Amino acid sequence: MKKEVNIAIIGAGASGLMLAALLEEKNILIIDKNSKVGSKILVSGGGKCNITNGKVKSNNYLGNQRFIRNIIKRFDQNDLLSWFGERGLKLIVRKNNQYFCENSAKEVIDILKREIPSDTIELQSEVIKVEKKSDIFEITTSKGKVLAQKVVVASGGLSFPILGASPIGYDIAKSFNHEVHTLSAGLVGFTVQPEQFFFKTLSGIAIDVKITIENKDLKKEVKGALLFAHKGISGPAVLDASLYWQKGKVSIDFLPTLSIDSLKLSKKT
Ligand SMILES: Cc1cc2nc3c(=O)[nH]c(=O)nc-3n(C[C@H](O)[C@H](O)[C@H](O)COP(=O)(O)OP(=O)(O)OC[C@H]3O[C@@H](n4cnc5c(N)ncnc54)[C@H](O)[C@@H]3O)c2cc1C
Repeated sequence: MKKEVNIAIIGAGASGLMLAALLEEKNILIIDKNSKVGSKILVSGGGKCNITNGKVKSNNYLGNQRFIRNIIKRFDQNDLLSWFGERGLKLIVRKNNQYFCENSAKEVIDILKREIPSDTIELQSEVIKVEKKSDIFEITTSKGKVLAQKVVVASGGLSFPILGASPIGYDIAKSFNHEVHTLSAGLVGFTVQPEQFFFKTLSGIAIDVKITIENKDLKKEVKGALLFAHKGISGPAVLDASLYWQKGKVSIDFLPTLSIDSLKLSKKT
């Protein structure tokens, strides 16, 4: 039997759940292939979900700045903190502006679940394709067809397939003739070339560095901790730098607080 709803949301992750919790429309269906909701939220922030940051600005994000600015203007980090605070979420602040759950990321999921009627969530149902027939979207899932007036694709990115990630969002976008930009990994460590294999012997050591990324159209500097790892380099500065890297040059200044001139000077004295 076909189900009919006003809004179908594909994906019961952070985006899909938050949307469902905020929607006034209640004739909705959230479809997810996992057996439980919010799997990625649960592992986020080392199990404590770094829910937001006190300094959210559009230029912290890659992409169309005007579009991002408009989203933040309508719902910013303070709106998010108030929304969860009113529902009893206890948070701790690390490094002055990073908001983590005091107890567990599970509390975030529990709050979202309380806001959403359980009969509007269909789990273990994999979306296979979405087509538009007249004015209605027809969603083919592993459990049958769903007809919806509106469809929200909140199926997330490609990282962590074990937590349910799939390319369905990109497939749907392409099938509706949207342009899909080349995908690249973000917030990942770098592996190194044979000439830097000696890094392995430094594995476990962390130091503050300045990393410069130079692409064809963008030069970006990132400061912070670099961690030598077994197969390359990691740590907060490297993870940040990976957001901007596009097979270009990476320069690492291991003495970011010292200039060449000050080093020459100290050699003389
Ligand atoms: C280890 C780790 C730690 C992180 N820590 C933080 C943190 O501390 N703070 C932070 O802000 N972010 C963190 N992130 C990032 C954050 O988890 C993601 O940005 C966020 O979960 C994305 O939400 P989403 O709703 O877009 O996608 P997802 O959470 O990935 O949800 C997408 C949902 O769609 C479902 N789905 C996919 N394909 C289909 C299909 N074909 N049919 C049906 N359902 C489908 C999936 O099962 C999934 O439940 C972390 C991520 C990881 C992996």
